[in-house]
Amino acid sequence: MQSITILGATGSIGTQTLDVVRANPDRYRAACLTTNRNIELLADQIAEFHPDLVVVREVRAAEELRRRNPGDVEILVGDEGLLRAATYPDVEVVMSAMVGFAGLVPTIAAIRAGKRIALANKETLVVAGELINCLLKDLGGSLIPVDSEHSAIFQCLAGESPSEIERIILTASGGPFRELPAEEFARITPERALKHPNWSMGPKITIDSATLMNKGLEVIEARWLFDTLPGQLSVVVHPQSIIHSMVEFIDGSVKAQLGLPDMRLPIQYALAYPERIANAHPRLSLSALGTLTFFEPDTGRFPALRLAYEALERMGTAPAILNAANEVAVAAFLDGTITFTDIPRLIERALAEIPVRDAPTLDDILEADTTTRRTVRSYTGC
Ligand code: NDP
Repeated sequence: MQSITILGATGSIGTQTLDVVRANPDRYRAACLTTNRNIELLADQIAEFHPDLVVVREVRAAEELRRRNPGDVEILVGDEGLLRAATYPDVEVVMSAMVGFAGLVPTIAAIRAGKRIALANKETLVVAGELINCLLKDLGGSLIPVDSEHSAIFQCLAGESPSEIERIILTASGGPFRELPAEEFARITPERALKHPNWSMGPKITIDSATLMNKGLEVIEARWLFDTLPGQLSVVVHPQSIIHSMVEFIDGSVKAQLGLPDMRLPIQYALAYPERIANAHPRLSLSALGTLTFFEPDTGRFPALRLAYEALERMGTAPAILNAANEVAVAAFLDGTITFTDIPRLIERALAEIPVRDAPTLDDILEADTTTRRTVRSYTGC
């Protein structure tokens, strides 16, 4: 029986991780669950999964949960509580599924405590990939990707030598605006951008998918997960989201991993690795699908992808600046403060104006994040 902490248990990845736990009660136990403030759902999760510890980051929501007295469970609050869940003694695997930069510090704590990491929180590797790799190397830790593209690449690389990789090809759905003319982009509303054609995800990653920043963040994530050069990372738009990504080797052979778009598969793969678990999920039928299509990404209409490549080339704190600027801009777009086309514009301005630090420490990364948030908020007047 494997005990799991789920950081971000009330989110899209968190609830699907609990689906996997529910389907495999003899293998997994949800020992610690965390949320930002969704105590309604957390209370249901406590009643069903009987965790030892739950953490609510927001103080008022935590107090409300305590008032409701949800039974025999320890309730902690705030960042201290998140660290306790990330390092909880009985836990072997930490599912890192909080959204955004907030996931970085608890994930580092979990690595330091010797936990195996199932990583959904891509922002952790985007902002601090080099640091995380050094920690994993020094401590002999292991980190298995949950992002479907990176899970696909990880599976393609099983039994292969990293020195024989020619190129990694990340697939992108292209999002809801793949065919929308450039002149209509400024009129895109949050409601339209929140409707992803293939995946049901949290709001931040859904907007990132619509701008293609999600693919940019994934390119940076792949650079650190698979120790490749930026020039070895390419993106192809594949609207059906059936091929989750590919690896081309030095002899020209290309391996791909296919499946229906269902995050429970990469989640259970990361939890069970190196085993596979049978399940009753719907199966892929290529003949029913008929056609799979592929296109080059259009970085003219989707400049966020270009900006991510530029931040990756620049390195240092540039990816942390890119990430923080994106988080602030996406929140401002969802609030109705800025337009869809302002998102990459603000990120580009932040990358041009905020000084980059080379070989950053964790403190440098935290500072770059804080400075960028303050600066980009001053651009939007919020
Ligand atoms: P959601 O927004 O659905 O869920 C985020 C979770 O984190 C919720 O439990 C939320 O609590 C909690 N949370 C948010 N902010 C904080 C904070 N400041 N402190 C503590 N907890 C917080 O996100 P997703 O599940 O969609 O995404 C999670 C991560 O996984 C992201 O990094 C995303 O890029 C990545 N990912 C997601 C995929 C998907 O299919 N959804 C696919 C691949 C990767 P509350 O419920 O109270 O808001």
